[in-house]
Amino acid sequence: MNCPKDHTELKIEQMQDITVDRCPTCQGMWLDYDELDAIEDQVMTDDHAKGTMQWNPTQTDLLCPKCGEKLNTFDYRLEKLQIEVCPKGHGFWLDAGEEKRVLEAMQNRIAGQERIAKAESEWTGLLRKLKVRK
Ligand SMILES: [Zn+2]
Ligand SMILES: [Zn+2]
Repeated sequence: MNCPKDHTELKIEQMQDITVDRCPTCQGMWLDYDELDAIEDQVMTDDHAKGTMQWNPTQTDLLCPKCGEKLNTFDYRLEKLQIEVCPKGHGFWLDAGEEKRVLEAMQNRIAGQERIAKAESEWTGLLRKLKVRK
């Protein structure tokens, strides 16, 4: 697969149980559809509490690296964070650093919950926990 933005060939990175495709040029990341859900589950296990994920979807000129359809961009859970998604459900494109902002957005939502008093912001730390719980 190639980066939808600069067309560099994506490199597979294995992060614990999750395989991501990382662009070595812009450091963007392609996540398969269920992988984003797996990451969200690290922070928030109650699917109902997450709310609607995709707001205000609009078509972009970026192409899905899997099927070549034009990606949609949407506001991630009413946060000021725009993520691209394949309209056929192949996955998500996150620009460099956006994966951390996804986690921060969820952490903000659950800030009042003591059980996650200090949610980890480190990507690697979250993935380590994912493995332990399985
Ligand atoms: Zn790129
Ligand atoms: Zn696609």
